[in-house]
Amino acid sequence: MSKSIYEQMTDKIMLTGSKIVPELFEMIASQDEAELMMALPGTPKQLAEKLGKPFEEIDAMCRELYHKGLAFKSFKSETVGYKMCRDMIQFHDATILWQEAPREYLDLWQKFMEEEWPDFARLAEQFFPKPFTRVIPVQESVDAGGQQVLEPDSVNKIIEAADIVAVTKCTCRVIAHKCDMPLEVCLQVNNAARYTIDRGSGREVTKEEALKILRECEEKGLVHVTMNKTHVGHFICNCCDDCCQALPLVISDGLNICDPSRFQAEIDSDACVACGTCLERCYFKAIEETENSNNETVMSVIAEKCFGCGLCSVTCPENAISLVEERAADFIPE
Ligand code: SF4
Ligand code: SF4
Ligand code: SF4
Repeated sequence: MSKSIYEQMTDKIMLTGSKIVPELFEMIASQDEAELMMALPGTPKQLAEKLGKPFEEIDAMCRELYHKGLAFKSFKSETVGYKMCRDMIQFHDATILWQEAPREYLDLWQKFMEEEWPDFARLAEQFFPKPFTRVIPVQESVDAGGQQVLEPDSVNKIIEAADIVAVTKCTCRVIAHKCDMPLEVCLQVNNAARYTIDRGSGREVTKEEALKILRECEEKGLVHVTMNKTHVGHFICNCCDDCCQALPLVISDGLNICDPSRFQAEIDSDACVACGTCLERCYFKAIEETENSNNETVMSVIAEKCFGCGLCSVTCPENAISLVEERAADFIPE
């Protein structure tokens, strides 16, 4: 049996076999829009010729696909062209941030996340040698250690080096809404910010506002996550452990789809008073109760579980936790 156009679109974003993704496409793309998407990439003029339709009609449809997050602008030629969303992440993030996305559409995404995404994530883990994303520590936690902090290790340096910054809602929390953590916290840098502002899927923020958002996320206990690359012009996510598409799979299933930071927590067992705050703050179950040399109950870090997020150290009332450099600079891929 031949595949429907929505199944063919699903193949294009490498989710062949999904039952839900064709439904997602069908819910927000008409048959005409689907045919146009399958004809991408191209400029509206090229696409109008290819499909034998009036330029004005195709130009308006391309703009609508861009607005919905189904197509992206391409600046390779002098005239703006359009290309289809490249993969599941682009499809997910861009269409969930479509302002007019119906609630049933968002709910269907959540169904995909619960029923199909874990198996696709397992496949991606086998296919790609290094995870796409990486934890970055809370700024204060690495500043305190007096060690080498590279630009891609530092949320503050990423923001300070940016030409332009925007903020969007956290797409995972928009669809899952399992917690009451803040929504408008996904920071987009440079080209990602320009795209966000042009499309209206978020808003421009000053660097001061971006830093304020980061401090609030740290206080609330959200983990900073960025792209796993040395260049810093992309995004800073601020993730919770119940709505996030990646962290629960990393923590509960041990999937290698997010790298730790280059740092690791250490607890001074003489200073620790076993208040338990760090135990509650650690998403990664990397802190356990133990005894110090005086047979007093204290906390210690399970090194192999620690992702170096620094959330534990910023709220320790005794300043007993420090972050130390654990992985060399070349741990972060070029
Ligand atoms: S990866 Fe994290 S911050 Fe980004 S959208 Fe998902 S939960 Fe939100
Ligand atoms: S927060 Fe600090 S004092 Fe409290 S248990 Fe953890 S290390 Fe010990
Ligand atoms: S112990 Fe937990 S909270 Fe502390 S840095 Fe490691 S992973 Fe983060």
